[in-house]
Amino acid sequence: MKATVTEECIACGQCVEICPEVFVLEDDIAEVIVDEIPEEYQDKCKEAAEECPAEAIIIEE
Ligand code: SF4
Repeated sequence: MKATVTEECIACGQCVEICPEVFVLEDDIAEVIVDEIPEEYQDKCKEAAEECPAEAIIIEE
């Protein structure tokens, strides 16, 4: 599973709070710090995508 953050990101930081193992906040956009999402973080990563207010997280299975 992979995740990407689009330019729709408003840098609210919510994904970083939900899953800091995958997302970090840069200046004005969140970034994904792993290429392949480890099994143990996949549920949290999906939750972050669902909760993202800008719908900026794209998950690829
Ligand atoms: S939750 Fe969405 S809008 Fe907020 S920082 Fe993460 S990707 Fe950006």
